[in-house]
Amino acid sequence: MKITFLGSGGGRFSAISQRRMTGGFRIDNIGGKNYHIDPGPGALIRTYQFGFDPRNLSGVIVSHSHTDHYNDAEILIEAMTKGMTREYGTIVGSQSVLEGYERWGPCISSYHKSKSDKIVLQPDKWAQLDNIKIKGTRTSHGDPTGTGFQMDYNGFKVSYTSDTGYFEGLADEHKGADILIASVLRPGNRSINGHMCSRNFIDLINEVEPQVAVMTHLGLKMISSNPVTEAKKVSKNTGVKTIAAYDGLSFNVNYNNPKRFRLISLKDVQSSIHSTYHTLYDSERKNTYQLAFKNKEFDEVSIIKRRQ
Ligand SMILES: [Zn+2]
Repeated sequence: MKITFLGSGGGRFSAISQRRMTGGFRIDNIGGKNYHIDPGPGALIRTYQFGFDPRNLSGVIVSHSHTDHYNDAEILIEAMTKGMTREYGTIVGSQSVLEGYERWGPCISSYHKSKSDKIVLQPDKWAQLDNIKIKGTRTSHGDPTGTGFQMDYNGFKVSYTSDTGYFEGLADEHKGADILIASVLRPGNRSINGHMCSRNFIDLINEVEPQVAVMTHLGLKMISSNPVTEAKKVSKNTGVKTIAAYDGLSFNVNYNNPKRFRLISLKDVQSSIHSTYHTLYDSERKNTYQLAFKNKEFDEVSIIKRRQ
């Protein structure tokens, strides 16, 4: 299994400004299949940019109906189904993404849903997805049906929180995870409604006790702080190796010993403003936060409503 980040940015303004890419991530070769998770704006382009092929997908997974997570889902579904000419693959998503819920979604048209199997993720309900099992995990976020997931491949578990605030019981959703991938929008203690900060992630890791943790979906304030330093702090406070995702980060997962991995920086061949190396923080810091502050761009989600 290989996990690759086709973007590590998250939140509206991180996405609009593209200070970090927002293509989501891919899990390749899990049970022999490839999946694209939360394909935000640019996912298709980032796929090619980092040397992947969207036509070899077996599934597109969309956790909730925010643009930075669903934007490129339909074009990837077209790639998966050879331009909608064959019945193939599975679309996995929250109720809002697939069916619509109140003012949220649906994010995928009936046309694009017509050639693939569909799985609506529900908290604690396991479903069979090709050769793996997958269940939804609860979130506390703007979209009331928003969902994370846990994948189980022969007992090896990969968990993804998606966007969520920290809440009591969040750890129960991800118990048993070998690899825990989380949206950590903000640094330090600066959590906001519906999103985790590094401090929340420390608490979550201490409860879940995964072998490896990855923080992604980094907001502008996180990008302006040094995410690598934040990840080191998290590692130090938890004893769990924690990685700050960056654009083009890839690593192979060793099922027998997940703690043993080598981070690979995929070549970013197209773009002058992005880099796969995490040494650009100085320029990012200058360009990102001051501008965002001037324009009053913040990632706060003001209305949080949980489905009862
Ligand atoms: Zn969101």
